[in-house]
Amino acid sequence: MPMFIDTSPPGHCIFCKIAAGEIPAAKIYEDALTVAFMDIGQVNPGHVLVASKRHAVTVLELTAEEAAAIMQTAQRVAVAAQAAFDPDGITLFQANGAAGGQTVFHFHMHVLPRHEGDGMALAWPRK
Ligand code: 5GP
Repeated sequence: MPMFIDTSPPGHCIFCKIAAGEIPAAKIYEDALTVAFMDIGQVNPGHVLVASKRHAVTVLELTAEEAAAIMQTAQRVAVAAQAAFDPDGITLFQANGAAGGQTVFHFHMHVLPRHEGDGMALAWPRK
């Protein structure tokens, strides 16, 4: 899959627009601080992104309250993914900065159901 890099300004990036309901996404959960939606590039079935509602680029910009809320939402999504997809494992990860593998510059955490032998490379971004 080709790498897509979104460098839109704050408030105009793809995930700001998804959080605001301005462009379509398969949202599965939202609260005051977070929104969870299906990743358009489904590495495995059930691949979800948990994003901050406020535009923050990396983990360095989150407030402590946002960081806690992200983890709480990710845990809820993981529980739902376990029930829905019966994976052998679940990988939570998130990338910060281009050198860290980030391609959409609005904070998000991946929740990725895993199956024995699915062969997903741990390297990110995907090549
Ligand atoms: P990153 O590489 O920044 O950790 O992850 C960005 C993720 O955003 C990728 O897995 C990519 O498939 C996903 N993505 C990019 N654009 C869109 C979009 O418009 N909608 C959704 N739902 N996911 C997107």
